[in-house]
Amino acid sequence: MSRSCARPGCGRPAVATLSYAYADGVVWLEDLAAEDHPMVHDLCAQHADGVRVPNGWELRDERRGAALPQHGQLDLIGA
Ligand SMILES: [Zn+2]
Repeated sequence: MSRSCARPGCGRPAVATLSYAYADGVVWLEDLAAEDHPMVHDLCAQHADGVRVPNGWELRDERRGAALPQHGQLDLIGA
């Protein structure tokens, strides 16, 4: 099973799944979900690492293989 990144024009293999909880203002990054789901987005490693969340939102990176932030990846500034 292999899916590709949901970002337009990307097409790299997806390695992570992005999901949202709008009511809570939380974005999750997790290891690629086993099943595709209309409410989540599959992302390649590069786009997963580049995820930014709107101001006031929280990003929870729960990928098991997540690398430690190296250059301020948790850019929470939405402006
Ligand atoms: Zn991508």
